[in-house]
Amino acid sequence: AAKRMKTGYAVYDPKFESSGINRLNLMSELKKGLQHDQLSLYFQPKINLHTSRVCGVEALIRWHHPTRGFISPEEFIPLAEQGGLIRELTSRVIRMSMEHLQHWKAIGISIPVSINLSVRDIQDNNLPSQISSAIENHALDASCLELEITESAFMSAPQKGLRVLKNLDSLGIPMGIDDFGTGYSSIAYLRDLPVKIIKIDRSFVMDMDSNDNNRKIVKSIIDLGHNLDLQVVAEGVESRTSLDMLKELGCDMAQGYFILKPRPFDELTDWLQKKTD
Ligand code: C2E
Ligand code: CA
Ligand code: CA
Ligand code: CA
Repeated sequence: AAKRMKTGYAVYDPKFESSGINRLNLMSELKKGLQHDQLSLYFQPKINLHTSRVCGVEALIRWHHPTRGFISPEEFIPLAEQGGLIRELTSRVIRMSMEHLQHWKAIGISIPVSINLSVRDIQDNNLPSQISSAIENHALDASCLELEITESAFMSAPQKGLRVLKNLDSLGIPMGIDDFGTGYSSIAYLRDLPVKIIKIDRSFVMDMDSNDNNRKIVKSIIDLGHNLDLQVVAEGVESRTSLDMLKELGCDMAQGYFILKPRPFDELTDWLQKKTD
């Protein structure tokens, strides 16, 4: 962003200009990347804290740029949203997930995949039928998928978004609110949205073992979720202590580096096979 002086005037900053150019370059490279299969999915498992079993995996997109190496989704997802590429990207994620699910099914692993949706996705009335035909075409059923949306994604288009979410819900696909606790009006939206799951933002979970306020926030979110009959997931679990605390607090599911970092398909498959042996 442009530097600000103490007077409050925005000052011209050459770095700002050049980063603008980079963003445009990156956008057109992302377009190419979509066409040339530079995108792949990593997967991170989620465990059920009541049974200690794996109960799902989250699909996390990776862009392997031919010269720049891995580029973080934190960097290119916003770009894809601004550049009108996000629907194509999400379609790709859905398709890749289905193909991976078919492979797992063939070797006896049945596990739901969570897909992250953007605001543009839930504004598109075609999304539910696109998802249901993808499921059919791959001979899978609705229980193989879960969807994650952030509150902010929903809030920027409440009316349109609600229709799409209700259609997805009627297909029997569970919906979760991601990054819970970082937006606002969370509670009113929980009441109005067809959600089944809340995912506590990792900023509260990561250091809950040393930060008492964060531990209290996590506890409050778990209690709130349970009072509303929702399943609660904690993401960003980085230590044994946090995992034990979450069990103690009655949290339903956990995800994080302490369990496993996101891994490419083959590595995750090996891990899943060892787990379920
Ligand atoms: P998110 O949906 O909140 O995903 C969780 C992020 O936390 C992932 O980062 C994951 O690698 C990271 N993470 C998992 N466990 C831990 C932990 O224990 N500690 C810490 N510090 N981090 C942990 P990643 O893969 O870089 O993705 C970043 C964000 O990019 C995601 O946040 C999501 O908002 C977005 N994203 C990723 N894949 C997709 C996608 O396919 N579609 C869309 N629309 N967005 C995506
Ligand atoms: Ca997510
Ligand atoms: Ca999250
Ligand atoms: Ca996030």
